[in-house]
Amino acid sequence: MNQTYDALVTGAGFAGAVTARELAERGGMRVLLLERRSHIGGNAYDCLDGSGVLIHQYGPHIFHTNSRRVFDFLSRFTQWRRYQHRVIAKLPRDNPQVVPGEKVTDGRFFFPVPFNLDSLKAAFGSGEGERLGRKLLDAYPAQSQVTILELRQNPDPEISALADYVYEHVFVHYTMKQWGQTPEEIDPNTTARVPVRLSRDDRYFQDAYQGMPLEGYTRLFEHMLDHPNITLELGTDALKRLELSDRGVALDGTLFEGPVIYTGQADELFGFRYGPLPYRTLDFQFETYPQDAYQTHGTVNYTVDEDYTRITEFKHMTGQKLPGVTTIMKEYSRAYTGQEGEIPYYAIINPENNALYARYKGEADQFGSLHLLGRLAEYKYYNMDAIVDRALALCDELLGK
Ligand code: FAD
Ligand code: UDP
Repeated sequence: MNQTYDALVTGAGFAGAVTARELAERGGMRVLLLERRSHIGGNAYDCLDGSGVLIHQYGPHIFHTNSRRVFDFLSRFTQWRRYQHRVIAKLPRDNPQVVPGEKVTDGRFFFPVPFNLDSLKAAFGSGEGERLGRKLLDAYPAQSQVTILELRQNPDPEISALADYVYEHVFVHYTMKQWGQTPEEIDPNTTARVPVRLSRDDRYFQDAYQGMPLEGYTRLFEHMLDHPNITLELGTDALKRLELSDRGVALDGTLFEGPVIYTGQADELFGFRYGPLPYRTLDFQFETYPQDAYQTHGTVNYTVDEDYTRITEFKHMTGQKLPGVTTIMKEYSRAYTGQEGEIPYYAIINPENNALYARYKGEADQFGSLHLLGRLAEYKYYNMDAIVDRALALCDELLGK
């Protein structure tokens, strides 16, 4: 084969970077990696802001996995800071559940999310919360958690009332803000990520391996892409260099012989010929304060009021020691319109959109060498560990091992 590169990868997020490293290292292939942005890391990119605070530019990213393979693979490129994410929900002061004149504790305004046995006590007082907790445990003896949609099906009037409480105080308003739809209208797997816990475990994730890259995600990516067989071109839109035709995939006008791994939007790759795939986008508002800390937890969810869904304070997660200054981020969700500068963050999974995606996937499948991989290209919800796992598996296939 008389060409400079053996494999072409588009996008330097987790999907593209893991693939590039594996093909370069394990496969001994010369890999060209094209990234549209001016930096590596995709949405996991982090950097110092103007005040020296390490921030996640595209939303808070906490690493967690049950996969030993994924953890071992990434551990080659970073050490880890031990960190277990904990989230509390903030209810409004004029919480309509509170009867005027009633003595309330702060627990009525903050409780752990996922909603657990301690959240019950915070919401209903310790005696009543304890009793309801026992009732829940009796109702689901073999389970450690239950989804809100499942809980709402429970015929017992007390459990049903409790389900309504959780639905109202944790799910319905937050989900409306995040998706513009109710929990019943969205993919049930989405709310299932935040179940009602039948225990006192207040960690957001329960995976075996959890933590934050000690020097940040961008440094992790720098190490991962530091391989002599990888050529990285930043600020490069691959779609301006690639051409798909009956002959196959061409790069810069010449037919490309090796595998092509594409991690951008599937609809964009085919000129939106069947119409755009719907997405939610996010607006991030960063605020810096001249104080050590802004809130008690890495993330506080605003599950009932406010226009934003959550506030993240990065120092809790990164462990950065920087006295007298902190940066927080408020997240606002809205429909993605495809306008210049907007980023498609969340695929909106439903049968209609999946069918539209399948048409693009069908187009891609015409090209034996073209592989769609990642959150955008597969129109799928992937956590970081899941896409690393998927990328490793694709490389196993491509390399025949
Ligand atoms: P991306 O990171 O989006 O990378 C795709 C890359 O391709 C981008 O850099 C893009 O610029 C590039 N690209 C696209 N088109 C082109 C083109 N034409 N030419 C060149 N380059 C192109 N996961 C967790 O495990 N834990 C978390 O706490 C967590 N929090 C999250 C919070 C938010 C707000 C969001 C949105 C996601 C979160 N995730 C989290 C998920 C995580 O971001 C994804 O799993 C991960 O980014 C997927 O990697 P990817 O490579 O598929 O996509
Ligand atoms: N969710 C909710 N209230 C919360 C947290 C989550 O209603 O306090 C729902 C909401 O629909 C959200 C989904 O559960 O989109 C998944 O939450 P997660 O925190 O996993 O979302 P992500 O971090 O992916 O944005």
